Amino acid sequence: MDNKKLAELLFPHIDKTPDYYEELYPERGLAEGARVTRFAPSPTGYLHIGGLFGALVDVLTAQATNGVSFLRIEDTDKKREIDDGVSAIINGFDYFGVEFTEGVTGFGTEKGAYGPYTQSQRVEIYQTVAKSLVEKGLAYPCFCTADELAELRKEQEQGDALIWGYFGKWAKCRDLSFEEIEKNIAEGKPWVLRLRSGGSDDKKIMFDDVIRGKIEMPENIIDEVLLKSDGIPTYHFAHACDDHFMRTTHVIRGEEWISSVPKHIELFRACGFKLPKFAHTPQVLKIDEETGDKRKLSKRKDPEAAVSYFVEKGFPKESVLEYLLTLLNSNFEDWRRANPTEDISKFPFNLKKMSSSGCLFDLVKLNDVSKNVISVMTAQQVYENVAAWAKVYDPEFYDIFTEDPEFSTAAVNIDRENPKPRKDIAKWNEVKDYFSYLYNSLYTPDYTMPENISNEDAAAIIEKYLGEFSLADDKDQWFARIKDMCEPLGFTPNVKEFKKNPEAFKGHVGDVSTVIRIALTSRKNTPDLYSIMNLLGEDEIKARLTKTLENLK
Ligand code: GLU
Repeated sequence: MDNKKLAELLFPHIDKTPDYYEELYPERGLAEGARVTRFAPSPTGYLHIGGLFGALVDVLTAQATNGVSFLRIEDTDKKREIDDGVSAIINGFDYFGVEFTEGVTGFGTEKGAYGPYTQSQRVEIYQTVAKSLVEKGLAYPCFCTADELAELRKEQEQGDALIWGYFGKWAKCRDLSFEEIEKNIAEGKPWVLRLRSGGSDDKKIMFDDVIRGKIEMPENIIDEVLLKSDGIPTYHFAHACDDHFMRTTHVIRGEEWISSVPKHIELFRACGFKLPKFAHTPQVLKIDEETGDKRKLSKRKDPEAAVSYFVEKGFPKESVLEYLLTLLNSNFEDWRRANPTEDISKFPFNLKKMSSSGCLFDLVKLNDVSKNVISVMTAQQVYENVAAWAKVYDPEFYDIFTEDPEFSTAAVNIDRENPKPRKDIAKWNEVKDYFSYLYNSLYTPDYTMPENISNEDAAAIIEKYLGEFSLADDKDQWFARIKDMCEPLGFTPNVKEFKKNPEAFKGHVGDVSTVIRIALTSRKNTPDLYSIMNLLGEDEIKARLTKTLENLK
C-alpha cells in the first residue's frame, strides 16, 4: 500500500504537517519543575462539584510550581453539548475565584498562545496529525456500518474473543486495498479513521501515576477510532494532540480515565509525542441517605452535585474552597492552623498528598467549616456578602436589609469582631431568618413563654422591666438591672443558689432574661440581647414589651 497516496486520498484538504504545529506551539521553556496542567470539561451547561475540585487541583499544582494552568473546552461530543454550555462553567469558576493562566475565558473569548482552546476550533490540527499517521501506516479508514459492528459484537460474545472491540482478525477494514478504499470513497460511503494498533495481548504497559504510584495494565490492542465520520476526533485522539501541542506536563483527570491509559500511551507513541505524566484524582463521593453506602455524587439525585447549589444557598466561596482543600490534601488543616489568615493560594499543594480512594463530601462538615469562616469575617464583609447574595436570590430581603446599611452592619456585628465570635451562620440564606426580629416587616411575634414560667410571672417580669429599662445603661449596668429585678419577683440572681435550693424560688436570673428576650425577639436564644435592644431603640422596645404584656393577660 502506498500510504502517502492513501493519506492524500483521505485528507486532500490538509496541506500542513505536524512539524508546522511543533513550531507554532514550541516547548514552553519554563523553569525546571514547573508544571503545566489543564482542566478540560465538556460544555454540558453545568459545573459539577467534582469539576471545581479537579480544577482546584490543576490551578494549585501550577501555582505551587510557578507553572501554567489552562481551561480547555472539549466540545467534540455534540450530543452532550448545550447552547452556550461554557457560561455555567466560567461563571462557576468566577464565583469561586478559580483563575487559570490561559485558555477559554468566556463565550467566544480566550487568552494564551497555545490556542485555540476549544476543540471544535482545532479540527485542522487533529486532521494534520491523522494524515501523518496514515502516511506512516499507523491509521486506516474503516467503512463498517453500525449494523456490521453490532454483528461483530454478537460474534465476539458467542465466540472466543477475550475482549470486545475492533482488533486483530475482527478488524475487517484493516487490510483493505487502496483500490477498495478508493471505490468506497467514490461511492460516498462514510468512514471513520482507526488506529492500526501494534499492541499485543500478552504484553503489559506500566506507568507511574503521580497520585497512585505504579500501575500495570495489558497493552492496548484495539484499533481505536481516532476521527469520527464527520472528521471530528474522539476524546482519546484529541487528548493526545491537545496535551502535546499545548505542552501539558501533567494530565490530571478523574479516575474513570485510568482504564484508557494504555490506549493513550499507544497513541502518544504512534504520533511521536513525548508522554506527559498522568495523575488520576479520586471521585467525590457521598454517603447515600437510604443505603448508608458511599456512592458518587449524582447530578440527578443530589442538588449539591452542581456548584450552582452553593452559590444559590449563599455559601461564601471561601468556605467551599476551604472545605475542598481539606478533602484535597491531608495536611491542609495543619497548615491552616499554623496560618489562620493566609490566602489559600499560598498553601503548598502537593499531588502526592492526595488520597487515591474517594473523597467524601459531607454537607454537615461544610456547614461547620463555613460557620468558622463566616465568624472571622468583619461586619462590613458580612454586610457586603449578604447584600450581594440577596440582591440576586432574595430581592425582597435585599430591600429590607440594605435600606439602612449602618443598622444592618451593626446587626451583623453583634458578637463579631472579638476573639470569641459566635459561629451561628453557615450561609447567607440563613441571615434573613436569623435576624428577622430586627426588621419589623419580617417580624411575626410569638409570645409563647418557657414552660417553667407561668404567664402571670412572665407578665410580672415584663411589667417591671417596662418601667425600669434604660438605654443609657452600659452593658454591666444593663445586666445588674435585670439581676436587681429578680428578688422582688421571687427569682434569684444567683444560679448556684437556685440549683442548691430550687424549691425556694420561681426561677433564676437566666429565666428572667429569657422572658425579656422572648418578649423582644420571640426567641429563647439570640446573640447578645443588650446589643439587640440598642438596635431596636426605646420606642420599639416599649411597643414590644407592651404587646407581650397584653397577650399574657
Ligand atoms: N472532557 C473530559 C471529561 O469531561 C475530560 C477528561 C480529561 O480531563 O482528560 O470527562
